[in-house]
Amino acid sequence: MGTRFWLFPQTPTDENSLPAEVVELSPPAGSLDPGPEDDSMYVIFPVDKHQEYGMHKDRFGRDYVYLPPWDGDVYERPVADEAGHFLHYNDVDDARFHATHIYASIRFTLDVWEGYYQRPIKWHFRNHYDKCEVNLLPDFDNAIIGYGFVEVGTYVDKKDRSLSPFSLNFDVLAHEVGHGIVYAEVGMPDPRKESAEYLGFQESCADIVSMVATLHFDSIIDEVLESTSGNLYMHNHLNRFAETSSSKQIRLACNNMKLSDFAAGWRDEHILAQPLTGAIFDILVDIFHEELVRVGAISTSLEEVSDKLEGTDEYESELQEEFEAAYSAYTAQFREALIFSRDRLATLMIETWSRLEADHLEYLDVQRAMLEADKTAFSGQYHTIINVNFAWREIGMAVVGPKLPRKKDDPQSHTHSNRTVVPLDDPVPRKSYRERYDDARR
Ligand SMILES: [Zn+2]
Repeated sequence: MGTRFWLFPQTPTDENSLPAEVVELSPPAGSLDPGPEDDSMYVIFPVDKHQEYGMHKDRFGRDYVYLPPWDGDVYERPVADEAGHFLHYNDVDDARFHATHIYASIRFTLDVWEGYYQRPIKWHFRNHYDKCEVNLLPDFDNAIIGYGFVEVGTYVDKKDRSLSPFSLNFDVLAHEVGHGIVYAEVGMPDPRKESAEYLGFQESCADIVSMVATLHFDSIIDEVLESTSGNLYMHNHLNRFAETSSSKQIRLACNNMKLSDFAAGWRDEHILAQPLTGAIFDILVDIFHEELVRVGAISTSLEEVSDKLEGTDEYESELQEEFEAAYSAYTAQFREALIFSRDRLATLMIETWSRLEADHLEYLDVQRAMLEADKTAFSGQYHTIINVNFAWREIGMAVVGPKLPRKKDDPQSHTHSNRTVVPLDDPVPRKSYRERYDDARR
C-alpha cells in the first residue's frame, strides 16, 4: 500500500477550485521520513533563508552562485502517522500541510510520468545531488526548479495584494516538475547553443506534463467533461494554464497562435511556446475525436465539422448542441476516450523526447521526432494528425525572429535564470601523465 496525502487538484485560491482529495502515492506507507523525504527528494522549511538559490551579486557587484544544500535551521517537519500516512495534515494555515502538499504534488506528477516510462525518472542534477532539496520559501514570489532544488514561494497579486501560495498550486508544481523531466530526458543545452525554440519547447512541455498529470484526477476528468460536454475547445481546467510567476499569466492550450506571429521577434518564451502547445493540444483533441468516432459516440460528420471549424469563432456555437446530445447519450464512452487520448499523447511525448537533442532545438525537430515516435509506438496511426496540426501552426514554414527587449511588466525570463545555474564541473584542469608521475615521485 502506498502513502496517503490530501491534495488539491486545483489551487484553493482559484475561483474554480475543487475540494482537496485523498491520493495514494507510490512510496510504501511507512517508508517516508519526516519532511516528507523519500529516495529522491526532501522537503524543508528553512528558518531565515533570505535569498533564493541561483545567481546573485555580492556587495561588490560580482556574480556568485548560490546552490543547495541548505545548512541552517529548519522549521518542524511533518511526520507520518502510525500507519505511515500524512492525512492528519490538512489545515491550509499550517506550514506543515504546505510541506506535505508540495511533496504530494511533485510525487503525484512523477508517479504519473514514471508510469508511462515504466522506470524512475532521474533528476538532471543526479551527478551532483543524490536528492532534490525542496524548499518552502514564502517570501519568494515564484516557484522554480533549478539545479538540485525546487523552491516554492507565494504569488502576490499586484492589484489587490492578495496572496496565493504556490505550495497549494498543483498546476504550478506539476509544471515545474515538467521542466525537470525535460531537462532529465532531453537535456540542458550548452548555453551557447540554446535556441529560442528550446525555451518555448520547455514551457510547452512543462504545460503538457502538468495537463496530463491533471487528467489523472477523476474529479478533473469529470469536471472537464461535465463543463464542456466533451467539447474540449471550450475553456476549462484542461486547456487553461496559469504560471503565475512575476505577473499573473494565463495561457490557453486552445489558442490560435502561429509561428509567423513571431517573425518580427519574441519577448517571452511562455508566449513563444503557444504555437507548439496549441499544436500538441490539437493533436490530443484529434486523437480524442477519432476514438469517439471509432466507438460510435460521435458521427464522422461532427468530427469533420469540428476539424474544419477548429480555431474559428463559429466553433463553439455551431457544435455545442451536437456535443451536448452526444455526451448525454454516451457519457461513459467520452470518459474512456479522454483517458485513452491522454495516454496516447503521453506515450507520444516520451517517445518524442527520447529522440530530441537540446542544442539548437527547433519546433520542426519536435514534429519530426513525433512522427518517428508515432511510427514506433502506433504504427504511424497519427501521421496525418501530427502533420496537419504542425502545418496549421506554420512550424517548418515561418522563422522566429530575434529576441526583443522586455517590457517593464513582462514576466521574468527563464533564460540564464536561477533555473539553469550549474556548479562548475571540475574547475581544475586534469594533470598530464608527466605531472602526475612527478607528483608521485615527490
Ligand atoms: Zn515554466
